[in-house]
Amino acid sequence: MDRIGGSLYGLAFGDALGKPTEFLTVAEIDEQFGPAGPDDLEGDPALFTDDTQMALAVGWALHDAVDLTPDALEPQLRKRFVAWAHSPENDRAPGMTCLRAVGGLAEGMPWVEATVAGSKGCGANMRVTPVGLIPGLDLDVLAGVSQLQAAMTHGHPTALAASELTAYATRLVVDGCALADVPGKLLARCADQREIYREDWLGALWRSPGATTPADFIARGWDECKAVLEHLVAALARPDDGLDASLATGEGWIAEEALASGLYCAVRHADDPVRSIVRGARTSGDSDSIAAIAGAFVGAAHGLDAWPSDWVDRIEHTDELAALASHLRGNDGN
Ligand SMILES: [Mg+2]
Repeated sequence: MDRIGGSLYGLAFGDALGKPTEFLTVAEIDEQFGPAGPDDLEGDPALFTDDTQMALAVGWALHDAVDLTPDALEPQLRKRFVAWAHSPENDRAPGMTCLRAVGGLAEGMPWVEATVAGSKGCGANMRVTPVGLIPGLDLDVLAGVSQLQAAMTHGHPTALAASELTAYATRLVVDGCALADVPGKLLARCADQREIYREDWLGALWRSPGATTPADFIARGWDECKAVLEHLVAALARPDDGLDASLATGEGWIAEEALASGLYCAVRHADDPVRSIVRGARTSGDSDSIAAIAGAFVGAAHGLDAWPSDWVDRIEHTDELAALASHLRGNDGN
C-alpha cells in the first residue's frame, strides 16, 4: 500500500476541496454545493492552495538537505519558503504570518528575528505532514524538524507543539496505528514532551515576553494542544451529529484547532477517505486547512489507491506530488 503517496495526495485533495469553501458558512456551502457537500474537485487542472504549496516546499527542503540537522536544513527551508513567496502561483489566499516572516527570511534576517513570535496560525502545521512520511525517522529528529520548520514563520509555542503533533500523527498512521487510536497517543505525547525545549533546533526563540525558562515557554504550547485534544476525545465519544466539525473542535485558524478538527474528520470517516475530506471542506472555519490535514491522515491510512484515480490525474502539479512521494519513500531518514 502506498501510504506516502496516499498522504501527500490526500493533503492536496483536501486542500483543493476546501479551497472554494474556506471563507463560507456551512449554510452558504450547502446552498452552493447541495446536500452532498463539495465532493468533487473543481476544474482541470484542479487547483490547491498555499497549504499544499508550502507542504511541497517543506518536502523538497527535506529532500535537498544533506543531513536533517538544524544547520543543514534551515537554509533549504529558507530557500524553498522564499521561492514560494515569490512564485506567481502564490495567489491562493496565503496567510499573513507566512508572508511577513518569509519577507524577513528573503532579506537574510536570522529566522529567530524574522519569525512572527506571537503567531500560532495554522500555517505551520498545515505544511508539516511530509515530515511524518520519512520512513523510520528518529522521533527526536522528527520533533526538531517539525518545530524548526514551524518556528521560522510562527514563533508561538503552540505552533511548535501542534506542528510536531501533526507530523507525529501522520507518522503513527503510516506505521499502522488505527486513526481512532491517534488522539490518545497525541495526548500521551503532550504529557511526556511537556517541558522539553529543543534548544539545538530552536536556539533562543524561547526568550519571548512572559517566558521565564525554556521549559515554561514550551509547556504553554503543549498545554494548549492538550486542552483541544481533550475536547476532541470528548467529541468523538458522542454519536456523530453530522454537523460542522468546527463546532466540535474549533474553526482551525489556529494551529491546535486545525490539528484537532482535521483529526476529527479523519476519525469520524476513518473508512471513507473522500467523505473525510468532504466533511473537512464543509466547515465554517479554515476549510482548506482542516480538509488538507484530514486528507493527509486518512490518505496515510488507506494509501494512494483509495483516492479517485481521475483526481490523481486532475490535481495540479501531479507529477511533482508523485516525484516527492517517490523521493520520500527512498529517504533512509538520515
Ligand atoms: Mg490555504
